[in-house]
Amino acid sequence: MNLTSSGLAKGIFVVDTHVHAQRHAYGFQKKGEDPDYAALGSGMAKSVVYDNSPRLLYHMDRYGVDVAVIFPAFGMTNEIDLKIVDDHPDRFIALAWDVETRRKSESGEKKWNIKDSIAELDQLLSTGRFKGIGEGFSSGHQVGISWQEHLEMYCQYMELCRKYKTPAQYHTGFPNGYVGGPGLASMVGNYESPWANPLHAHELAALYPDVPIILCHSGIEGSGYYTDLYTQCLHVAASHHNVYLECGQWWAELYEVPLKDPNIGAEKLVWGTDWGASCTPQSWMPGCVPETFCSQDNKIGPPSHQVDVYGWSMRELGKLNIPQDDLNLILGGNAVRIFGIKTPHTRLFKEYLGRPSLNVYPDHGDKKKK
Ligand SMILES: [Zn+2]
Repeated sequence: MNLTSSGLAKGIFVVDTHVHAQRHAYGFQKKGEDPDYAALGSGMAKSVVYDNSPRLLYHMDRYGVDVAVIFPAFGMTNEIDLKIVDDHPDRFIALAWDVETRRKSESGEKKWNIKDSIAELDQLLSTGRFKGIGEGFSSGHQVGISWQEHLEMYCQYMELCRKYKTPAQYHTGFPNGYVGGPGLASMVGNYESPWANPLHAHELAALYPDVPIILCHSGIEGSGYYTDLYTQCLHVAASHHNVYLECGQWWAELYEVPLKDPNIGAEKLVWGTDWGASCTPQSWMPGCVPETFCSQDNKIGPPSHQVDVYGWSMRELGKLNIPQDDLNLILGGNAVRIFGIKTPHTRLFKEYLGRPSLNVYPDHGDKKKK
């Protein structure tokens, strides 16, 4: 593929499917300061979080991102996300996380268990206010258990997705650097975990062919230029009609194989950047391929500024000389169908007479066509 930069990628309707609209802050109230500190590590769950949507909206508006799919990460809450959706119903949709179950476990009040996790999510999803589970399935964070045990718990989350007709999304791959080492080792330091072994998704996709599964990060999550987990994700996506690849942290060259693979193609790529996570600063290795990539630099440490992942990701996409209708699918069309996101008009995204549309729940998407 001839990669030549044509500037920032633009889309007819752009959706970022992986966004954290809250931010961690430490001790700002005591100091009488504005909450504006990034922090990582074991303290994240205990830090104070605040609504970061004004900054997020500014970034979205600068780069033409129409809608963000927001969900909590460590220490963040479902309540703040719902308020953000209420304030801007056209710009955000929210996914639910088992925040209470995790909080109790992190504070030592009650050991994390799948029953509480499922019950909490069931209740949240039953409100109709959340469009799925995120970020990821919490049982994937449990260490020292076999894939079989992970699978049994993952199936319970998949049952919830089926019940509420939402897509499933969970992490494949994890960052290196300051989180990959000391931070995540305690969480995914278990290579039976579906995070560490994307091939496990084969089993899940075959068991739930009716549930769309998005592989978050598809093996490239602030993980430098290492691509072994990415290749495994492609293997899964090429084998199952219901598996989608989240690609927002891919550099341009990584799009080539999946776009050309007849079993993958633009129809299965979903743009999601992890905006708001501190694991997305970019590194630069002049003259190398990739020359820039999302990575955590141990020598510098976590950024306290808001990393501009949109500008970088859209410049990488801007190097692809592919039909605009295909780019539109990657930047938004697939997400619109998978999450049932409302668009200002029908027929924005490519489809052809007599061809079956993408595998999503039948009541999603722009069904009521004029
Ligand atoms: Zn994330």
